[in-house]
Amino acid sequence: MAGGVTVNIDGMMGSPEEIRVSALDRGFLYGDSVYEVVRTYEGVPFALEEHFARLSRSAERLAIPLPLRSTLLREMRRTLAFAGCKDAYCRLIVTRGSGPISLDPTTASKPLTVILVKPYQPFPEWMFERGIRVAIPQIRRTSPRSLDPAIKSGNYLNSVLAVGEARAAFLDDALMLDGEGNIAEATSSNVFILRDDEVSTPALEGGLLAGVTRGLLIDLLAQHGFVCSERAISVEEVLDADEVMLTSTLREVMPVVEVAGNRIAEGVPGPLARKLKSLFHEYALERTRRDAEWERP
Ligand code: PMP
Repeated sequence: MAGGVTVNIDGMMGSPEEIRVSALDRGFLYGDSVYEVVRTYEGVPFALEEHFARLSRSAERLAIPLPLRSTLLREMRRTLAFAGCKDAYCRLIVTRGSGPISLDPTTASKPLTVILVKPYQPFPEWMFERGIRVAIPQIRRTSPRSLDPAIKSGNYLNSVLAVGEARAAFLDDALMLDGEGNIAEATSSNVFILRDDEVSTPALEGGLLAGVTRGLLIDLLAQHGFVCSERAISVEEVLDADEVMLTSTLREVMPVVEVAGNRIAEGVPGPLARKLKSLFHEYALERTRRDAEWERP
């Protein structure tokens, strides 16, 4: 299956043309699902503990019962082996299942597990060398009191609309504001800034996803003598920053050089972004190499 996407639905594996989800599945109808994106480095999934912990928290918040962890792990292994790529993108989705067309969650039959694996597609090199340009879109992050962004659910319309605004302005991504007008996160990454020698990232209380990369970077920063404060960050602080970075499983650490038409510092990636990218990448390689239990494809 090299090159394409391998699909595993409740243990049935094949191509996306062969293996399909029911049109009555609530993940399809309502985004009534939870998911994680895990990346493998040289055949071994990175930070599985953290991803499973977040998946459990998301599922608990939505009262979607998860299959046993051993079942999820077994099916992930099978799918990764079937796909046969060493550096893989692996998306693990659990939907509430299907049933009558009804919003009532109690009418769902039983949860459905979907695993998608494809070769990891690196971001273009220029994004790291020259940095990306982001919008601040009109649409804001949903409030934690409506659909809490801390829940990694299949409902990504909020981010879809924000990316749409960014693309309409020929920009690469969008920094979304929370209800208070502070920076929350990007559409599929967290945000870090460096300003006056202080590294900071928006606090979770503002309403955002607790990124696995974000959490690990905060620890890595501490180990390397930087203190990272988690606090409310205003738009002005971002525009006035020495460096702005996005972090995620797929990007690791990516520099931002322009926000809403304003150049950040000199408009070129800074040394901290470069350093954190390489520290994080080394950490991921080292941690996955240590994970001897995982059978490499
Ligand atoms: N915020 C949002 C909205 C995301 O979708 C993601 C990607 N999962 C992130 C942040 C980054 O999270 P992680 O570091 O766990 O990939």
